[in-house]
Amino acid sequence: MTGDSAIAEILLPLALEGPYSYRVPPGMALEPGRYVVVPLGPRQMIGVVWALKARASTEKTLREVAGVFDMAPMPETHRRFVDWLSAYYLEPAGNVLRMVLRCPGAFEGPREQIAYRATESVPKRMTPQRSRVLEIAREGFAMRAAELAEAAGVGTSVVKALARDGALEAVALPALRPFPVPDLNAGGFTLSADQKVAAEALRAMVAERQHRVMLLDGVTGSGKTEVYFEAMAAALAGGGQVLLLLPEIALTQPFLARVENRFGCEPAQWHSDLRPRERERVWRGVADGSARIVVGARSALFLPWKRLKLIVVDEEHEGAYKQDDGVPYHARDMAVLYGSIGKFPVVLSSATPSLETLVNVDRGRYGVVRLKDRHGRPELPEIGLIDMKRAALEPGTWISEPLYAEVRKTLEEGDQALLFLNRRGYAPLTLCRACGHRLECPNCAASLVEHRFRRQLMCHHCGHLAPMPQACPHCHAEGKMVPVGPGVERLAEEAAQRFPDARIAILSSDLSRGTLLRDALREVEEGQYNLVIGTQLVAKGHHFPHLTLVGVVDADVALETSDPRGGERTWALMAQVAGRAGRGAKPGRALVQTYLPEHPLMQALKRAERDSYLNQEKAIRENAGLPPYGRLAALIVSGADSGETERFARNLGLIAPVAEGVTVLGPAPAPIALLRGRHRWRFLVKARREVNVQAFLRLWLKDVHPKGSLALQVDVDPYNFL
Ligand code: ADP
Ligand code: ZN
Repeated sequence: MTGDSAIAEILLPLALEGPYSYRVPPGMALEPGRYVVVPLGPRQMIGVVWALKARASTEKTLREVAGVFDMAPMPETHRRFVDWLSAYYLEPAGNVLRMVLRCPGAFEGPREQIAYRATESVPKRMTPQRSRVLEIAREGFAMRAAELAEAAGVGTSVVKALARDGALEAVALPALRPFPVPDLNAGGFTLSADQKVAAEALRAMVAERQHRVMLLDGVTGSGKTEVYFEAMAAALAGGGQVLLLLPEIALTQPFLARVENRFGCEPAQWHSDLRPRERERVWRGVADGSARIVVGARSALFLPWKRLKLIVVDEEHEGAYKQDDGVPYHARDMAVLYGSIGKFPVVLSSATPSLETLVNVDRGRYGVVRLKDRHGRPELPEIGLIDMKRAALEPGTWISEPLYAEVRKTLEEGDQALLFLNRRGYAPLTLCRACGHRLECPNCAASLVEHRFRRQLMCHHCGHLAPMPQACPHCHAEGKMVPVGPGVERLAEEAAQRFPDARIAILSSDLSRGTLLRDALREVEEGQYNLVIGTQLVAKGHHFPHLTLVGVVDADVALETSDPRGGERTWALMAQVAGRAGRGAKPGRALVQTYLPEHPLMQALKRAERDSYLNQEKAIRENAGLPPYGRLAALIVSGADSGETERFARNLGLIAPVAEGVTVLGPAPAPIALLRGRHRWRFLVKARREVNVQAFLRLWLKDVHPKGSLALQVDVDPYNFL
């Protein structure tokens, strides 16, 4: 459409109700999906043409589209995906679009292939903004003005000014490396009989070119990865792009090397640690269709896919697929939604599938293929229980005698052992022995966690840091502060005492820079350490060939929460962490310390009876009307003032609609009633499965407009109950 008779509806990456109307200037050719620049107030913004319509003569004067980018338009499927996701989660479409456009480099013109890097010289004038820019530039990677500005949270003028001052120098960017074409027969194993059957089923599904969902179910190490590679090969052979989603932490070099080995070239990667230039390369490659294989974390779903023909969601049960801040979405569910819009299949792979997925299989909505054998390896490790009620531990110690004896034996035999404890830091709690005062975060209703390596107390909710006080802040007694309970650092201290010759590694997300963690994982894999102490991030998808013993220090943590998925999560975590043992030549063994050895979950773990456990869990959920038998949505009201927040929440409760099959629970103070200085109240909407929860929520919230510091967050299908 051209000419001055057209109006373009432009979606902007802002929390607006819908697209804004702009006039298409004469001579500008636009079509839906084109990326454009439009004026908004005093600013210029990048947006996407959502629709075009003829101009009505009564139309008030509109501003003009300022420019159009010379790049492939966003395909219709992707635009529909944005709209659907927005409707499902009751989130403005512009907020979803913002996730798609999160790649400033992709929108810089060809003339701006100039980047900046730090020089030795110090600018004449220093401001906090300038020093943020320099700090990032000194990491050594040349970045474009827009990227550097975004990373530092400042305007591009700050970058330009630093360049004029000589503190930054301009360099030309090399051209973006083109993506190699995958070689579908580059490598891979001769598949086992089981694998062949499974691979054939997946290939047949891909060949149908329709939307279907298939669960690939098999214990850790049964060879699922090799099987879904075959599905990927089939989709690539048809000319499509494929997306392999992994929990961020599983995106490791050894895994990427496997993909490379199978397809003869390095896949494109997408995760939060990517350098801006590489982000741009992948974003553009996905948009123009030249990036054929992308291995990515959940946000890779939002890349502007040109010809997406298959999504594989590995570790589909993983909680990390749920995003809680910003737009709260579940990447596994949205992968299935995308498949239904784009009419392509989706493979969900897991050793411990989620109950949601298993029930979809029961209902016949998803297909399933199973792998029985642990390929060429011993069966899943035997799991033994240690009854901690009888362990009679010394105070301040956590390793029971039976676990100690097994670890020692393992180390003596030259093998690797893992002690698993899902708590970062040194101690989760610090108390004053004189008055009982407990150190709490000033911004959150939560204890401060001691991190002894960093010599700091830290809030795991808001990141608040404080030094360890010498005297109790309450009663001022000196030297009375004591740690209570274990974190991995404290467990490592005990382990170092009891296994003085062990080479100990601590793996937790405190190795915050992705590269540090990746190095540490590689060193463990190579066997440079023989005793690994780790949080749940070691449980996930890593392959430690020398590991033969896993000790779970406290298996009861998640069981004791009010989270309806606590049991399911514990099961998955135990199976995953136990599955780390015995992946090499020798068989593995797992020992689980628990105060609840007679709990049905522990008994089922010991007997390796997954199905009987899951059946019990299904019955519990069905009776309680919980997902996947019923639906949940959470509303969180928060505000700076405690009284005002409570009043708002109570008033909101009074206007909740009454609807058949819907129960509104609350308002009640949220489990974390103060978070980042905000008071929090919570509603839980429980609905029967056939109820349209979104319609209910829309009706309820249609005239609700929180003002001032008040905010209302809607979380459809919540996973975290904080
Ligand atoms: P899963 O994804 O189910 O955990 P993997 O695909 O990672 O299992 O396989 C476990 C191990 O077995 C890997 O080291 C893999 O290289 C190896 N493996 C898988 N399939 C075969 C096969 N057909 N022949 C030989 N080795 C295989
Ligand atoms: Zn805090």
